[in-house]
Amino acid sequence: MRHSSTVKADMGIVIIGNSAAAVGAIEAVRRLDRNIPITVISDELHPVYSRPLISHFLAGELKSEQIFYRPKNFYEKNNVQTLLGRRAVKVDFNKRTVKLENGEKVSYRQLLIATGGTPFIPKIEGLDKTGVYTFTKLDDAKKISSVLEETQRAVVIGGGLIGLKAAEALKKRKIEVTVVELADYILSLTLDETAASILEKALKKEGIHLITSNTVQAILGDAMVKSVRLADGRIVEAQLVIVAIGVIPNVAPFKESALHIEKGIFVNDRMETNLPDVYAAGDVTQAYDRILKSYRTIPIWPNAYQQGKIAGYQMAGNKNYLYEGSFMMNSIEVGHVPTISVGLTNPPAGDGYQVIKKFDRASTVYRKVILKGDVIVGAIFSGQIDRAGILTGLLRDGIEVKGFKKELMKDQFGFVSFPKVLRKEKLLNLK
Ligand SMILES: Cc1cc2nc3c(=O)[nH]c(=O)nc-3n(C[C@H](O)[C@H](O)[C@H](O)COP(=O)(O)OP(=O)(O)OC[C@H]3O[C@@H](n4cnc5c(N)ncnc54)[C@H](O)[C@@H]3O)c2cc1C
Repeated sequence: MRHSSTVKADMGIVIIGNSAAAVGAIEAVRRLDRNIPITVISDELHPVYSRPLISHFLAGELKSEQIFYRPKNFYEKNNVQTLLGRRAVKVDFNKRTVKLENGEKVSYRQLLIATGGTPFIPKIEGLDKTGVYTFTKLDDAKKISSVLEETQRAVVIGGGLIGLKAAEALKKRKIEVTVVELADYILSLTLDETAASILEKALKKEGIHLITSNTVQAILGDAMVKSVRLADGRIVEAQLVIVAIGVIPNVAPFKESALHIEKGIFVNDRMETNLPDVYAAGDVTQAYDRILKSYRTIPIWPNAYQQGKIAGYQMAGNKNYLYEGSFMMNSIEVGHVPTISVGLTNPPAGDGYQVIKKFDRASTVYRKVILKGDVIVGAIFSGQIDRAGILTGLLRDGIEVKGFKKELMKDQFGFVSFPKVLRKEKLLNLK
């Protein structure tokens, strides 16, 4: 049934999306104002859930209720009207209305775009066959889960964070998995070759097959997937294919508008877009990266929440709370090998960067710190991550490490390694 009515949003705040950024915004608005009407529009039917945990649902380790990010009464308690299972298809920024797929229109006084990311789907022959999935939503995990009885073998296209999480989950469900990665090594956007090789070994030990420097050229079978053909001609049998090449900002409803979009929606330090009363937060944005000193997408959960929170404060009238910029941060554990990477991990050669690293092959403990001048701009920790927080703090605060560079590689590196003045400052901050 099609509607052409306008859904009453009392000209309050309308949020498109119902995930980390939306929750950050709702909680910030309600800290300052109990009364501004808030309406959340989401094309998913579920209440907000922790997207990073869908692999644990697929692995059979957590039930869907266990990955919900807030209690059941979250919306009611925060006085939020929800329009779940409804997709926004267009926004009229002049009339301040959001058009939904079913023809309804929702009017707003202030709009927050928190539509996150959408899977990037490359052109591969046979993508339309039954048995091909993406893996970014709880419903994807549910659909994949429902076909595992008839699945013996799976191919995951993409050896990034999402692909590896999917592969591990499938392996836990006793599926033979092959990950196909175009780059020379897995997690190539966030790790270097050494760290990746540690994780590759751990994956193989878990029984996950890995094919790098290769790609899937075609998905074969009649209506159902039977196998894939790689670029080098090899055939890999599979009844299930997961496309996990990457995620791109979900800007479809705003494409033909005056909104400033490059890779994502451009936002300033107030999470404002170029249009009046229109904010954006989370994976959909292109925002300031304080390490790279440029505007880019930083698609990680804490960043989405933080950006949403700033947008929320701004929309509720507190203009003092500003975004200082973020940086890439990734954490993954493969086969009991925890790995954390932050900031710039593969610096361009000859651009004034200094790299110090330590690799203990026997224990597979790896630490790499990248400096520009006397400031840390990136780091990788593999195998042993207990000092990652302190180093990330130094990076975040842009603290000069001139006096204690050598200490950075020591296993016992900690606040005690800081010069006295800095130690005092840090300890006071910690109070
Ligand atoms: C499998 C997986 C594992 C991950 N693991 C980690 C991790 O370990 N650590 C980490 O920091 N990050 C991780 N991430 C990334 C993290 O989940 C995202 O950074 C975060 O979810 C972004 O939040 P967001 O609010 O910007 O948008 P999203 O979480 O992408 O949510 C956007 C919402 O908007 C809805 N929507 C989009 N368009 C419309 C429309 N037109 N109309 C209505 N609704 C719409 C979407 O359906 C979705 O519900 C992972 C992501 C995935 C997929």
